[in-house]
Amino acid sequence: MKDLIRQAITARENAYAPYSGYRVGAALRTKGGRIYTGCNIENAAFSPSCCAERVSFYNAVSCGEHDFEAIAIVGGPKNHMSGPAPCGVCRQVMAEFCDPYSFQIIMAKSEEDYETIVLEELLPRGFSLPSDKTESIKKNRT
Ligand SMILES: [Zn+2]
Repeated sequence: MKDLIRQAITARENAYAPYSGYRVGAALRTKGGRIYTGCNIENAAFSPSCCAERVSFYNAVSCGEHDFEAIAIVGGPKNHMSGPAPCGVCRQVMAEFCDPYSFQIIMAKSEEDYETIVLEELLPRGFSLPSDKTESIKKNRT
């Protein structure tokens, strides 16, 4: 846990948040043990902005990864870290790739102060296709 949180803290240093000042870092661990990081990236037009959690997922998926076990998230204004929960959009992206009952979301204020929760607790009854369609897509995805 500490290593994953440490990497999220490092990723946060690259946050581009000139509009909100709210800097977030995320570190996503695959089932194979690789870690992909992300930071929030804001935009003057606001809509193109992207959360650190999604950047880490898109970073990993763009490298061919599809199986994940945990994500650590740190964030807050300037030098303060509040242990933020992911937004609804990021929760839905997690639901696309992660088992809701085992994927761990680590919301950290520091390496020692964090809360771990599984996706099902953050996104109960999230949108999904019928399970037979989901299995077919996962089997055929490239
Ligand atoms: Zn988000």
